[in-house]
Amino acid sequence: MNYQEIISFIRETFSEKDAHILLHKPVFSGKETDYVLKTLESTIVSSVGEFVNRSENMMSEIAGTAKAVAVVNGTSGLHLALKLVGVNSGDEVISQALTFVATANAISYTGAEPVFLDVDYDTMGLSPNALQAFLEAFGEKRESGTFNKKTGKRIAACVPMHTFGFPVRIEEVVEICRTWNIPVVEDAAESLGSLVKDKHTGSFGDIGVFSFNGNKIVTAGGGGMLVTNNIDLGNKAKHLSTTAKMPHAFEYFHNEVGYNYRMPNLNAALLCGQLEKLDFFLENKRDLANQYQEFFHGSGIQFRSELPDTRANYWLMCIELDGKKDRDDFLKLTNEKGVMTRPIWTLMHKLPMFQHCYRDEQRHAEKLEERIVNLPSSVR
Ligand SMILES: *Cc1c(COP(=O)(O)O)cnc(C)c1O
Repeated sequence: MNYQEIISFIRETFSEKDAHILLHKPVFSGKETDYVLKTLESTIVSSVGEFVNRSENMMSEIAGTAKAVAVVNGTSGLHLALKLVGVNSGDEVISQALTFVATANAISYTGAEPVFLDVDYDTMGLSPNALQAFLEAFGEKRESGTFNKKTGKRIAACVPMHTFGFPVRIEEVVEICRTWNIPVVEDAAESLGSLVKDKHTGSFGDIGVFSFNGNKIVTAGGGGMLVTNNIDLGNKAKHLSTTAKMPHAFEYFHNEVGYNYRMPNLNAALLCGQLEKLDFFLENKRDLANQYQEFFHGSGIQFRSELPDTRANYWLMCIELDGKKDRDDFLKLTNEKGVMTRPIWTLMHKLPMFQHCYRDEQRHAEKLEERIVNLPSSVR
């Protein structure tokens, strides 16, 4: 298939003949403006307010979890989640090299070191086989947890990521981690609305973390949410995210080093407006995915669809090209013609600050890095 045909199809599909077509632009067609103005008029714009609570209730409902705690962004949510499951300085945390840098940064903020394992080729998320192989080769169960026999460090958590909203094999990952007593923090930043057997991503591990950054499926301008079925962890998340201040009518007493991570009410107002539109966004994007699927059918270019037993949110849609040369030609042509496309992120172990970290063979991640391209995926 000629790349120019793809550009024409995308232009027709978005019916924006001349404009620059973005990868994912936000749409504010619900009560967003109403809620934001109401918040300004009330002067309650900061980190205590009705919309913060309302967004938490909406998110625990959507994710099907006992608790949801609103935070300033997904990165700080991951940082907090890792602290809460007990990650400390000098520990190791298992994750994937194929991810956005925030996953590895959050691990580093705790003073722990990321361990990068391969992804499955089909899910693009952490491979249960790679996880099992790593733990069998390096893991040693002791009373205080699982240790890496080679480095002597504790393996304190595992952070699988649901790439572009396609669910990782989360049940297998959680099962393996349970056997080894390793807590699971799901990086669900990209997977709001994505399910595995009708259960929401983010609700399988000990804690799940969502992001509401400007390019995500719904946005709060900036924001994040921790979800958990462990009420105690949820309460601790709220405590730590609000400077660990003990409740009191007027006194300021903080019982540990806390964080200023709570989502402001102004952002939560926008988020509530957006979350009300989530079902519409999901359907609209599924429709676009079907159109892409049909267009690429039989073309020799594979459009990535959801796997059996899963429901993807189709946050960023992707195609698989034949190799790095094709990928680069495609990226160059489309971006020159005003149709924004993007390669997968540079794998984490290739970034200067993570080059020294342990990584396995990365056979699938390397191949995906050379082949996957994101296409414009906005709600129309
Ligand atoms: C967006 C994203 C984050 C971080 O979210 P922010 O809200 O931007 O801090 C974390 N992990 C992944 C995989 C993401 O895509």
